[in-house]
Amino acid sequence: MGNLGQDPMERASVLQPVDRTNMPDEISVTSLWMQNAPMPPPSPQPLPSRADVLVVGAGYTGLSAARETAAAGRSTLVLEAGAVGAGCSSRNGGQIAYSIKPSFNSLKAKFGADVAFRICREGFDAVAYLRSLAKQHADCAWREDGCFYGAHTARHFTAMARDAQNQPRGLEQRISVVPRAEQHGEIASDFYHGGCVYPDDASVDPARLLLSLLRQALEVGASVVDHCPVSAIKPTRDGFEALTPRGVVQARQVLLATNGYSGPLSPWHRRRVIPIGSYQIATEPLGADRVRSLIPHGRNIVDSRRVVVYFRPSADGERIIFGGRAALAEKDPLACVPRLRRMMARIFPELKSVRVSHAWVGWVAYTFDTLPHLGQHDGIYYCMGYCGQGVPLAPYFGRRIGQQMLGLEEGRTALDGLPFPSRPYYHGEPWFLAPSIFAYRVADAIGL
Ligand SMILES: Cc1cc2nc3c(=O)[nH]c(=O)nc-3n(C[C@H](O)[C@H](O)[C@H](O)COP(=O)(O)OP(=O)(O)OC[C@H]3O[C@@H](n4cnc5c(N)ncnc54)[C@H](O)[C@@H]3O)c2cc1C
Repeated sequence: MGNLGQDPMERASVLQPVDRTNMPDEISVTSLWMQNAPMPPPSPQPLPSRADVLVVGAGYTGLSAARETAAAGRSTLVLEAGAVGAGCSSRNGGQIAYSIKPSFNSLKAKFGADVAFRICREGFDAVAYLRSLAKQHADCAWREDGCFYGAHTARHFTAMARDAQNQPRGLEQRISVVPRAEQHGEIASDFYHGGCVYPDDASVDPARLLLSLLRQALEVGASVVDHCPVSAIKPTRDGFEALTPRGVVQARQVLLATNGYSGPLSPWHRRRVIPIGSYQIATEPLGADRVRSLIPHGRNIVDSRRVVVYFRPSADGERIIFGGRAALAEKDPLACVPRLRRMMARIFPELKSVRVSHAWVGWVAYTFDTLPHLGQHDGIYYCMGYCGQGVPLAPYFGRRIGQQMLGLEEGRTALDGLPFPSRPYYHGEPWFLAPSIFAYRVADAIGL
């Protein structure tokens, strides 16, 4: 275990000078979601000196795990370096889809058909869990409007249509293929070469989901202390001690729920997750009718480019929220506004001159095998690596790791015991991303 230092979150707060040419707008760098779901004020309570369970990180993963352990009667303390949800969980796109990235066939080649099938099933279970959570407990603007997956090239469309016809048995999703000639029924744009509709995909207001998970954890007795970074974790005779600026906490069990913000606190985890910036903008209110004229069914839109682009109507249907990998590691979201605007205007030329009111960035956690990982290392539990798909995966696997900490059978998952790979010379600074993203951008640009 090491000390907190140059982690992505700290780096994110160091503002770079921004060229504001062609960017006359007053743009808020708070996510639109946070504006509509303000977080509770910082917690002034004294830091408890002891807990059964210490959770590091108050995002979907940490709060879901804390809810499980606190509900089972374990004294549970969540420590968060920033405000609650300071990481991705207050600032994502709120899009919900089946989210296991590797295909069944690639998992089968690696782990055999049975494990591959069970890993893929976890992706469906995660969506089902979030659906039931949202419907029963969470006031989070859950909507089942589906997703349109736009084909960036004709070749992509052919591959999508073929894959839709050849889904592995037991892992089928409802998919309808939309040829280019009919795509205006889905999106008022000629940008795509057709696409596929996933009618069962859903969306939420991510900050309201976060608030709901926070409320649920507090209701069953968890303590959540924000603005309290854990700088080191050391083993003791009967557990661990965590060092913070507000004092030392003794805990029998510790969970790292730090995902894309996993800094030098644990070099072992830092060598296994790759923090990648994801950037979003919100347009000014356009009016629900105008938004409906652009995205008639109010669906999420994702496209098949390697350097991903995704957008959707805001929860109130009045704006477009547009996101993508506009940069590699830019910390200032304002610097990415011109690029995101250009990307949006290529899809919807009529939005070329609309005002952007909000821009924000967060750090998602990729893994080398593009699978999430959970388990224990050196006695410390961890759960992370959702590869930009944590809205369904983080609450679900957060719950599972909480159950594992309680020793419960139902906490077991198909991912348990899988190796959590790293790469030689990788220590948390993803030097290899720039050439790969450049190659991806070239491939996208020439339509491969
Ligand atoms: C712009 C953007 C759009 C996205 N869109 C989508 C989407 O549409 N659909 C989807 O499925 N996923 C999306 N994601 C990804 C999704 O938001 C994340 O996968 C998910 O929120 C991860 O939750 P988490 O709790 O594991 O991590 P986070 O919410 O990132 O929480 C980790 C927390 O750990 C804290 N922390 C780190 N180190 C310490 C320390 N030493 N001490 C104390 N606290 C610490 C951090 O401050 C942070 O709050 C998006 C992400 C971004 C940034």
